[in-house]
Amino acid sequence: MNDHPTTTAAPDHRAGAEASEVRRFWGRLGLPGLVDVHTHFMPERVLSKVWEYFDGLGPLTGGLAWPITYREAEAERAALLREFGVRAFTSMLYPHKPGMARWLNGWAVDFARRTPDCLHTATLYPEPGVETYVREAVEAGARVLKAHVQVGAYDPADELLDPAWGLLADAGVPVVIHCGSGPAPGKHTGPEPIARVLARHPRLRLIVAHMGMPEYEEFLDLAERYPEVRLDTTMTFTDFAERLAPFPTRALPRLTALGDRILLGSDFPNLPYPYLRQLEALERLDLGQEWLRAVCHDNGARLFGL
Ligand SMILES: [Zn+2]
Repeated sequence: MNDHPTTTAAPDHRAGAEASEVRRFWGRLGLPGLVDVHTHFMPERVLSKVWEYFDGLGPLTGGLAWPITYREAEAERAALLREFGVRAFTSMLYPHKPGMARWLNGWAVDFARRTPDCLHTATLYPEPGVETYVREAVEAGARVLKAHVQVGAYDPADELLDPAWGLLADAGVPVVIHCGSGPAPGKHTGPEPIARVLARHPRLRLIVAHMGMPEYEEFLDLAERYPEVRLDTTMTFTDFAERLAPFPTRALPRLTALGDRILLGSDFPNLPYPYLRQLEALERLDLGQEWLRAVCHDNGARLFGL
């Protein structure tokens, strides 16, 4: 009956050492665990395409290789997050063409059902019917959406999306949106299209993925202007990201001021380095324990009512 086991043990080569280091990190902060708003689970076929993309990314990132660290089977990946003490995570999935979002959302319902610590995630695309399937997803219990402007190659301010953004703003359901121009720019990436969306939907709970990399300061401007805009830390501040798109030192004080609206994100399993690196990168910003507690757990716990 249960053909999707969720309790498979994490692989030996990491379960021990890495998991205990991650647990020590949040234990030191006195937290009950981590909340990670940016983790990828998607249908096997789609995920292998994503991995192929990263495998071939060298030329786009100036020859920088992007080795996927956690290429385990799905159940093992979820088990590994549990070993790390991630109390809640997401299944960020996204379409690259029309007619795909509804199918992805169907998969995500099933994944959330068999993965109780996953925050039920949905996605959208500018296409006829988007309002209907986003409403259905919210009614089915979606807690968060993912939108990927570069992969989807659409304008987030496309009027086809307007009713969906309105509905999500009214429902208070956050949307993690990859809208910055890193690691590769797209026709509609960058802060300008997002500014147009927010001008129409000022209460929309956008969570700007990767802190808006590389347009960090422009997206911080938007967060300062719109109190429901948040940012996720995904990959930002790690050595890997700093080589590609360094975070400007002069903007660090703004991170302190926005400390209640920055959320831990990791990009697990598509990281080119071990999970712990993201946490260490946040810690070495030296913005204080209170800031770290908020970012690594409390802000997410509050947003999702954990
Ligand atoms: Zn991601």
